[in-house]
Amino acid sequence: MATELLFYEYPTVEECTAEVLSCTEKDGKYLITLTKTPIFPEGGGQLADGGMIVGPGGNEARITDCRTEDGEIVHYTDAAFPPGARVRVCLDAEKRLDRSEQHTGEHILSGLAAKLFGAKNVGFHMSEEYCTIDLDIPLEREQTEALELAANAAVRADLTVHTEITDGDDASSRPLRKRAEKVQGEVRIVYIDNGKIDSCTCCGTHLNTTGMVGAIRITDHQHYKGGTRLFFVCGGRAARLGIEEHGALTELARRYSTSRRDLPAAIKKQAEEVQDLKSELKLKSALIARTEARELIDHAKLSGKTRVMFKVYQNFGANDLKLILDETAAAMETAPCEWAALIFSSGASGTDYRMGSSGGCKLSMRDLCAAVNAATGGKGGGSPVFAQGRSEKPLDKETADTIENYLIKATQQGF
Ligand SMILES: [Zn+2]
Repeated sequence: MATELLFYEYPTVEECTAEVLSCTEKDGKYLITLTKTPIFPEGGGQLADGGMIVGPGGNEARITDCRTEDGEIVHYTDAAFPPGARVRVCLDAEKRLDRSEQHTGEHILSGLAAKLFGAKNVGFHMSEEYCTIDLDIPLEREQTEALELAANAAVRADLTVHTEITDGDDASSRPLRKRAEKVQGEVRIVYIDNGKIDSCTCCGTHLNTTGMVGAIRITDHQHYKGGTRLFFVCGGRAARLGIEEHGALTELARRYSTSRRDLPAAIKKQAEEVQDLKSELKLKSALIARTEARELIDHAKLSGKTRVMFKVYQNFGANDLKLILDETAAAMETAPCEWAALIFSSGASGTDYRMGSSGGCKLSMRDLCAAVNAATGGKGGGSPVFAQGRSEKPLDKETADTIENYLIKATQQGF
């Protein structure tokens, strides 16, 4: 027995009484068919309606999905009802309105994209957050802006949206923008402004006029498979997005002490300033690294045959340590002696350490790093001539002295 589909003939009906035809369990869900339903099943790119099924004793089942399967409308629910039970089927009207707003907006955009640019809709997708239309030709930003303006003009003109049921042969003789392929029997056609904006075979739910869509916002467009993918929101989603974006822009404008309109220029200017500062910092860091490398070399202690360098910096970055060690290694490259350097940057958030040595040194940097890890509770490692690590604690004087003593002894004797 076929289900009576109220969402086409009586789209404003939000509730009906029906009899349960079948109820089966699958993967923890109950699949229910009914004698009639106001619940639109997923189809034609449109998401399914939501709602409730209420039993005679007031027991409720939530409709989590609804699909057409083998010609039957199947309601997916979280509770069971026995076949033959008389139930109330209640539509989630807010959810339906949202879907109808997006879907009607899609017709307006697709119809106008065809009329303005000759673009053909080759795909439509609706999710809970946004919708997409795929067009078969690339559109530039000026074109999507013109399309958005034209779509909203159609909304403000409050034009009619109506549907017609006809047979497949009759439908195939009409100049429709889009027709379902290989459809036999009855065909449902939706017209916007009597076909002046759109005419298309469609199984979805729509609003009665374009004005009810309220607003259409194209939020993004991307080049996609040689054409264009348009992202858009309509109705309540467009209103909420407007509030959200306006709030975010106002907050940003306050932070930049400028107007919302001048925000892009203010951000561009700041990005340029940051770039200048980065260049300046890079130069100064290199200068400091050379000076510090010189200091380290000048204050090196002779331990056996090895010149040992050790220093704890306060609040230097890990990158500064790298630069200092690189400068030290470069300066010592031609020195006729062995050397080993261990440097730290200690701060409230932790301690970074790096160590390097010439080849032939008695102490492997890998072993030195293991000793530093153990003393500071840090983690790190490396090769015999270079190692690095980090501890989440600041380095205290006592631990620093212990490590320096270890370094002196180990370079003298080797471990
Ligand atoms: Zn439609």
